[in-house]
Amino acid sequence: MDTIEQFNKYVMPSYGRYPLVMDSGEGEYAADENGKRYIDFGSGIGTNSLGYCDEDWVKAVCGQVGKLQHTSNYYYTKVQADFAKALCETAGYTNMFFGNSGAEANECAIKIARKYSFDKYGKGRHNIITLVNSFHGRTLCTLSATGQDVFHNYFFPFVEGFVNVEANNIDDLRAKLDDTVCAVMFEYIQGEGGVMPLKREFVDEIFRLCTEKDVLTIADEVQTGVGRTGKFLAGDNFNKKADITTLAKGLAGGVPIGACLAGEKCAGVLTAGTHGSTFGGNPICCAGGLAVMNRVNSEGFLGEIAAKGDYIREKLLKCGEVASVSGMGLMIGIELKTKQAGEVVKAALDKGLLLLTAKTKVRLLPPLTISYEEIDKGLEILTGILNG
Ligand SMILES: *Cc1c(COP(=O)(O)O)cnc(C)c1O
Repeated sequence: MDTIEQFNKYVMPSYGRYPLVMDSGEGEYAADENGKRYIDFGSGIGTNSLGYCDEDWVKAVCGQVGKLQHTSNYYYTKVQADFAKALCETAGYTNMFFGNSGAEANECAIKIARKYSFDKYGKGRHNIITLVNSFHGRTLCTLSATGQDVFHNYFFPFVEGFVNVEANNIDDLRAKLDDTVCAVMFEYIQGEGGVMPLKREFVDEIFRLCTEKDVLTIADEVQTGVGRTGKFLAGDNFNKKADITTLAKGLAGGVPIGACLAGEKCAGVLTAGTHGSTFGGNPICCAGGLAVMNRVNSEGFLGEIAAKGDYIREKLLKCGEVASVSGMGLMIGIELKTKQAGEVVKAALDKGLLLLTAKTKVRLLPPLTISYEEIDKGLEILTGILNG
């Protein structure tokens, strides 16, 4: 039995997968079991932020594996303390909670928001506004939070208490932000929703109204965080700091971790026994995360991300098939004029380039460390397909 046959026999078919068995990776390149190499413009789904098997990252992770792979959260570890410090100081938050994924980071944010409001105002102020076309995860609660009807099937009953507002519709926001609401949760750039940035005026109004009503702001930066947009947090592009920010995907360079960061206002909400995770803040993942933080905080690194993003945008906009390009930094959505995004992704696979889609767009989330040389090679393949 070959790998794909064996896999499909034993693993539930919950993903539409490409017939490709990945075997190894190096820098910007992934290699399949036949040794064919692919330039990776998706970096997992924005997870392998330093590319494949970055030397410093491998050293950090392997060093930790050989020292202490796990301990219960009843004890302390230095690596978790160091990572938490780096993260809070860089992002500008008071404290944080570690989970293992984006969905878990968002679950934590939702729990904090509800408890913050319960502690201060009692029952009845539990609703959370999320945006139409958002994506917040696959657990029942984060699916319920997700503002897309396609995700609200089969698994009834969903978690109550989520109210959807149309993105960038200030009147809709004003109408629904009543005294039943404890938080507004949003992505600065909707990722799965099609790389759709929020308008500045809309973000301003979220923060204005929330401050006025003591409603918490929750920025889901699972996809946009950790340098992806050319700033450490996408919120920095909007000059905003949400009360709570969630991170995951690229946070530890490809090992699983999620973080929920809290500012002064809600740093004291979760008390002993109110939340937990067996694996949360695993030392191996924290070691990987520290390696990512060291790189992202190195001189000029974030500026390079913005510059590379501009470079890619400029080249793409010269391609006749490209209708528009959205996103910030190295988070890029490409709207096509005539071609189907899914077909472009398949054609690119054949030619040795890994791409992602988001709704009708081709989506790029290349490693933050990608070189101009590999950008050029990847874009040559991509524009070749688009012009073909
Ligand atoms: C990917 C994603 C999630 C879910 O993260 P998981 O690690 O898959 O649970 C949540 N929010 C946003 C914005 C995402 O892009």
